[in-house]
Amino acid sequence: HAKKQGKDRYEIFEPELQATFQAGLQLEADLRRAVVRHEFELRYQPIVHLRTGEITGLEALIRWQHPERGVIPPLDFIPLAEETGMIVPIGEWVLREACRQAATWNARRDSQHPLSVSVNLSAVQLDQPNLPAVVASALANSGLPATSLIIELTESLLVDHRDSTLHQLEQIKELGVRLAIDDFGTGYSSLAYLRRFPVDIIKIDKSFVDDVGDEPTAAALTMGIIQLGQALSLSTIAEGIEDKFQLTELTDGNCELGQGYYFAEPLTDIATDELLFPTGASS
Ligand code: C2E
Ligand code: MG
Ligand code: MG
Ligand code: MG
Repeated sequence: HAKKQGKDRYEIFEPELQATFQAGLQLEADLRRAVVRHEFELRYQPIVHLRTGEITGLEALIRWQHPERGVIPPLDFIPLAEETGMIVPIGEWVLREACRQAATWNARRDSQHPLSVSVNLSAVQLDQPNLPAVVASALANSGLPATSLIIELTESLLVDHRDSTLHQLEQIKELGVRLAIDDFGTGYSSLAYLRRFPVDIIKIDKSFVDDVGDEPTAAALTMGIIQLGQALSLSTIAEGIEDKFQLTELTDGNCELGQGYYFAEPLTDIATDELLFPTGASS
């Protein structure tokens, strides 16, 4: 009898839903294996001082090197990693690896111009009470000064924050780490969290930068965000700069920093090394 009930229940599934469900289970199993077998890599996208073109930092962006499917971008697995809690060990690895790599590069550079490294954090990680200790440990083990680490948080994370979030961020700030708001301008938010959270950097979302040259509203909002940053003594980083025209508009508008395909895509560690320390160049 139980068998028959099970069978009836099975038949209420649409075949497409069934396929989606199976694929989800497969992805979850694959992701568990990926954590154990260390199938993740970091790419590094240069962050550039817009007036001088100098590279001031790198944003670490995760990739999953899947053995059969090839490179899987973060938006295709981070949500599942968050739902399942796997983002906690994955995110800790990102933090430790980014700090280690940045410290290694800085040891080979002019000590007057250390690079910063930016790491994206998910809300699930911020809910872990030991996060400040994990950050402190990543810094201590790598030797990277706290002032060279930037933690990126999305607006939505701050808008839906828990009571513990502010305390967690204050503890991380006390280490000397800087905080950036990612995708600024895309959340359904008041600006109140800029008062409440100890933010250092605003990252202007690519959707504004895309249209800064050809849409007056986007241009006005972009300039407004830059001025807001100046008024609050925050750095501004424009995301997703793809052409010279956008660069000119942003530079003229006094945006301090930027990143985007116009300068460089996210690069492998080897390609980043080549960019930072060109072979054949005298040093
Ligand atoms: P994000 O932090 O806003 O990162 C910027 C995204 O824009 C990256 O996509 C980058 O490759 C892409 N991008 C940069 N410049 C350009 C450009 O000029 N044109 C275009 N079309 N795209 C550009 P990516 O690497 O696929 O990452 C997507 C998102 O995944 C990130 O958005 C971030 O929210 C999340 N993410 C990436 N790595 C991690 C991680 O280690 N942990 C967590 N929690 N999230 C991560
Ligand atoms: Mg980011
Ligand atoms: Mg962004
Ligand atoms: Mg455009």
